[in-house]
Parts: sequence; structure tokens; C-alpha cells
Amino acid sequence: MSAPRPITIVGGGLAGLTLGIGLRQQGIPATVIEAGHYPRHRVCGEFISGHGVKVLERLGLREALGRAGAIEARTAAFFSGRAQSPVRPMRTPALCLSRFLLDELLAKEFQRLGGELRLHERWRDEFGEAVVRASGRRPQAVENGWRWFGVKAHARGVKLGADLEMHASPGGYVGLCRLSGEEVNVCGLFRRRAAARAPAIDELALLRGNPGSVLNDRLASAEFDAGSICAVAGLSFSPRHAAARAECSIGDALTMIPPVTGNGMSMAFESAGMAIAPLTAYSRGQIPWMQAQQSLARACDTRFGRRLAWARFLQWLMFASALRGPLGALVVHSDWFWRVMFTKTR
Ligand SMILES: Cc1cc2nc3c(=O)[nH]c(=O)nc-3n(C[C@H](O)[C@H](O)[C@H](O)COP(=O)(O)OP(=O)(O)OC[C@H]3O[C@@H](n4cnc5c(N)ncnc54)[C@H](O)[C@@H]3O)c2cc1C
Repeated sequence: MSAPRPITIVGGGLAGLTLGIGLRQQGIPATVIEAGHYPRHRVCGEFISGHGVKVLERLGLREALGRAGAIEARTAAFFSGRAQSPVRPMRTPALCLSRFLLDELLAKEFQRLGGELRLHERWRDEFGEAVVRASGRRPQAVENGWRWFGVKAHARGVKLGADLEMHASPGGYVGLCRLSGEEVNVCGLFRRRAAARAPAIDELALLRGNPGSVLNDRLASAEFDAGSICAVAGLSFSPRHAAARAECSIGDALTMIPPVTGNGMSMAFESAGMAIAPLTAYSRGQIPWMQAQQSLARACDTRFGRRLAWARFLQWLMFASALRGPLGALVVHSDWFWRVMFTKTR
């Protein structure tokens, strides 16, 4: 038998590292090329919900997350201004862990399994045979006339009524999610008109929301961790079809799901999980590259298509001006909204 062919993974975020770990567990030579370093804060609600948790379990990573401080979120509530939904139990608890810890944990596990991790190196080559694109979002300055951007910070001194709170806010929405050690993740997605003059963003003012809102009350005594404040722009949420591309892509590089669903990390884990078998077969010389790439693309499109469509609708609803009026109170109260949020988008 000839030696397995090596796989190069561009991007050491959740998708790239998870795939790297899965390949190493099969004895496949794998290199991850990462432009940044670990640990570092990332813009993310840090709320892992959906089938991706099963991928972590299958790869034997779930317990390590627990040891690193992952806690379970069991309840959630929605807010619009002063209107509030009941606090409801989630059918399946979500996992909450800081990306500062999570990405580093995965990087160490990949290296422990014998993977080669190259940091501070930016891939500028083609995404051809044996190269997987796991490089995160494909930056897009403007989408449908809007500039989309995300902001995150960790804070202490925030009292929550549920493990996850989602607040409709001016120009966006903000999630508050319990982390370990009395910390709370405060993360928002915002947009502004592409044509509008762009004053500098005051990240914390955006996250705090309007005076008089429940969000603003929640964060009134918050002590923000200055080192955790980060922002990202150039986001695009139009669903993409994997089968339409010649590249092998996973995670956000494949397509981004609106953050309101709390499902992007799950999709990164799931797409990485689905990539392990075809890439292993390719590496062992059992199938050609095109077949591995196409079978992964079809599997991703089948699995993600419906949830991306629902997520798009939900994202539209979160930004609809009606949600900020009296209708907002009805929507956040309704069982239907809850079902769309936690069932259809997973
Ligand atoms: C505001 C906001 C809130 C969110 N909240 C949640 C949430 O609560 N729950 C959830 O599940 N998801 C959430 N997400 C989505 C989630 O963060 C992403 O889906 C997830 O990080 C995707 O992982 P990834 O590995 O595909 O990409 P990333 O984590 O972005 O990793 C990509 C990596 O590739 C590297 N890279 C890029 N280009 C190159 C190159 N040329 N060469 C080498 N390296 C390169 C980058 O440095 C990066 O480390 C949120 C997203 C946003 C914007």
C-alpha cells in the first residue's frame, strides 16, 4: 500500500481544526495553515447549539470542552425594547465556551495527534487538489445596500434572567450568554446603510442598546474586559451552494448562517465532520479528489439548505421595524417564533 496523501487545511478556526483532528485520528497526514495565533478573542456569541455537538462527541472532544470550562445553557428568552418572552427551556442544552479557550484547545489537540500547525502564515495559493478552504467568511463590503458588522465583549456584573437572552436593538440584535466564572458574552450583529457617512463605531455603546431597554438595564453595571472587545466587518449572509464551487470548502468559507440562530459553530463542526470520510478515502487513494470534493459538497447542501432558508427569514424578522413596535411583543411571545428559532434552524 502507498503512503496516504497529505491534506492541507487553510484556516485554523473551528472548521479547519476539527477536520484536522478528524483526519489525524484516521492517521492521515494533515497540515493546518493559520494566519493568526492562539489564544485570541473572536467575534462570536460563544453559544454552541445543534448537531455540531454530536460531532465533538464522536471525535472524543466533548469532555475536554467541559474541562476547559464549557457550561450548558438550558434556558432562553427574547426581548424587544421592554417586551419580553417567557423564559423557556431549550429542548437540547447548548454549550457555552469562550473562543479564546476553545480554538486553542482544538489547536493543541490537533498537534497532540501529530498534525502540523503553521501559525502566522497566510495562504495565497490556489485551492486545488488536496487543499481544503476553512478560512472563514469571504469578506464582502456591502450586501443588498447594507454594511454588516459584528461586535463582541466579555463582561462581569451582568444579571441575566435566562442562560441566553436575545435582544432586538437599534440597527441590530445583541445576545447575552452566560459563560463560566461569572462572565457573560455580549455579542451583537449590526448593519448600516452603505451610502451613509460612517462615524467611528463605539462598540460598547452599540452593545448597550437604547436607554430604557431591558438590554441597557442588564448592562448598566457591566464591567467589560477591555482585552476581549473585538469587531468584524465584511459579513455576508446570502446562502451559498457548495456544489456550485470547484473548491473544497467547510465552515463559514462554505456559507455563513445568520448569527441569530447560534448555529454557525455547529455548521463548522458538522461540515468538518462530513469531510473526514471522503478526504480520508481520497488520501488513501480510494477515490479521486473531484469525487471527494463533490460528495462533500452535496452532503453539505442537503444538510444545510433548509436551515439556511429559515435562518434567512429569521434574520429578516430580527431587522424588521415591526419587531421593534407592539408587534414585537406578540412575536417574541409566540410559540411559533420559538419553534423557528430552535427547531427549523438546526
Ligand atoms: C456577530 C456574530 C456572532 C456569532 N455568534 C455565534 C454563536 O453564538 N454561535 C454560533 O454557533 N456561531 C456564531 N457565529 C458564527 C461563528 O462564529 C462562525 O460560524 C464560526 O466561527 C465559523 O468557523 P470557521 O472555522 O469556519 O471560521 P473562523 O472561525 O473564522 O476561522 C477561519 C480561520 O481562517 C484563518 N484564515 C483566513 N484566511 C486565511 C488564509 N488565507 N491563510 C491562513 N489562514 C487564514 C483565520 O485567521 C481564522 O482563524 C457568530 C458570528 C458572528 C459574526
